Amino acid sequence: MIAQRVPVLLAFGANLGDRGETIRAAQQRLAEADGVLDLVASPLRETIALTVDGPDDDAPRYLNGVATAETTLDPHQLLDLVQSIESDYGRVRDTHWGDRTLDIDIMLFGGRVVSDERLQIPHPHAFERDFVLAPWLDLDPDAVLMGHGRVTELLARIGDTTRRFEEPTDATL
Ligand code: AMP
Repeated sequence: MIAQRVPVLLAFGANLGDRGETIRAAQQRLAEADGVLDLVASPLRETIALTVDGPDDDAPRYLNGVATAETTLDPHQLLDLVQSIESDYGRVRDTHWGDRTLDIDIMLFGGRVVSDERLQIPHPHAFERDFVLAPWLDLDPDAVLMGHGRVTELLARIGDTTRRFEEPTDATL
């Protein structure tokens, strides 16, 4: 039987080290992984770090981006894959919402709802994160977030604090 291909939306963030290079390398790893097909990555955007106490202008700024892809993995297999890539880039899970070399979140997994101790899908903060919504719109101006509606309207409601980030011309996937 041919495994079903499910469309997914992944979000990437980094605020330590060579942020752009790390995100692009992680996306390349994902694009080449078994069970991941047709990965398309957004331009990157820069934002002020968001901590548990709110935006922190003194913390290193984030680069963020999203990617669409299709997968034949199940949601937990995809989480295993993104976590192994995160740990290869030195991500240490210490402070919740703390500085990180690489963060990869699964925003959407087809129309699936997953809620267990490891995984919340759709990602519970997707609708309120400009650094997810803005790069998603760069890829798909007609994007719709399951359970929340049109992404243009969601972004207009929360405001867009992100700025397009100029990468070296050979950096994009
Ligand atoms: P964070 O420190 O914000 O990256 O959170 C990482 C934790 O979130 C991991 O232990 C995951 O098991 C959990 N998690 C829950 N839902 C998701 C999701 N949709 N994508 C990625 N990680 C998730």
